[in-house]
Amino acid sequence: MMTKSVNNSTEIARHNLLGMTQSRLTDFLLSIGEKSFRAKQIMKWIHHCGVDDFSLMTDLSKALREKLMAMAEIRPPEIVSQQDSNDGTRKWVLRVTSGSCVEAVYIPEKGRGTLCVSSQVGCSLDCSFCSTGKQGFQRDLTASEIIGQVWLAVKSFDGFKAHQKVDKKNGQIINADKPKVTNVVMMGMGEPLLNFDNVVDGMNLMMDDLAYGLSKRRVTLSTSGVVPMLDKLGAVSDCSLAISLHAPNDELRSQLVPINKKYPIAMLLESSLRYINGLSDNKRVITIEYTLIDKVNDSLPLAHELVALLRDVPCKINLIPFNPFPLSDYQRPSNNRVKAFQRVLNEAGFIAPVRTTRGDDIDAACGQLVGQVADRTKRKQRYLSNQNSNEEQSVRIVNGLQ
Ligand code: SF4
Repeated sequence: MMTKSVNNSTEIARHNLLGMTQSRLTDFLLSIGEKSFRAKQIMKWIHHCGVDDFSLMTDLSKALREKLMAMAEIRPPEIVSQQDSNDGTRKWVLRVTSGSCVEAVYIPEKGRGTLCVSSQVGCSLDCSFCSTGKQGFQRDLTASEIIGQVWLAVKSFDGFKAHQKVDKKNGQIINADKPKVTNVVMMGMGEPLLNFDNVVDGMNLMMDDLAYGLSKRRVTLSTSGVVPMLDKLGAVSDCSLAISLHAPNDELRSQLVPINKKYPIAMLLESSLRYINGLSDNKRVITIEYTLIDKVNDSLPLAHELVALLRDVPCKINLIPFNPFPLSDYQRPSNNRVKAFQRVLNEAGFIAPVRTTRGDDIDAACGQLVGQVADRTKRKQRYLSNQNSNEEQSVRIVNGLQ
């Protein structure tokens, strides 16, 4: 949990307390000769009050405050930009310690506000319909960088618990209609299960009453199918689960989601069922994410195949019309094709809402997040040079040079 920060040109190694769960913070405090109960006080200052300055933590002794100032910090990612969409969606570009940037998106809806959080700088997987995958991969985010996205979003809406004003007469929260983070989806940049420990710590903080106290139904991890880690998840978390499925058979899914070659659909569904059946409440369902790509996976026979595949899986199916981005040749299907696909699912008894595209005027829609990735894999370079050579080829054909 050691991070580095620059202070008067001198690099000082500090412990970032922002991403520490209660048990990690307790261990840290004990390791510096402090009492364990201090962990609760510090967590409330950070996550209930939004305080990132130890000198303001007035119920800690002056000596402890000074000790923490010397060796620790509360440091979220740095906001590079904030963009607001016409539909109320807000996107942040956030610089993390390595200098790369990730993105987080807030989507307001009637009665709730969902924050889409990134787990990695880029992504090591390369799903063919996803802009993040084309950026390559640099590294995993730390737990501080993951929960830091929630901290910054809550701060931007002045939504910290300690700042909420309650009407003394009726007990209601004043300004309850202000934007609020009520739900978090681990669905931004990266595959969360490939950054297991930090994502689990981040999600546990989201659900901890000493931090954001979100219900386990309102914190969702979305995976493309890292089956061995999904099998481990049940032992450490009871968050909700979403599966990036996108195809009803292995042949097509392996083209769209390459990790399917290693962990095919049957393995993924079995593991997902084990997870969901192991939860303490038995009413939860798996969210199936299905990006509809024109004439690739949106035909009626495929809709029927999906029905047959999911017949015995307690699930709801989110249909997401593909959101185009520059490095992709895929197209968004027509509304008629989307509705026809949806009708097949609905007639078979599935809840299958079509997800409205949100924030596409600020490139914040599903599958469009790019950040700025210092790519270790050279994947983006390869995509760009392929694209350039395809464009040159087209120009040669148009000019009759071939
Ligand atoms: S869909 Fe998810 S797992 Fe696939 S490339 Fe994009 S970020 Fe990575």
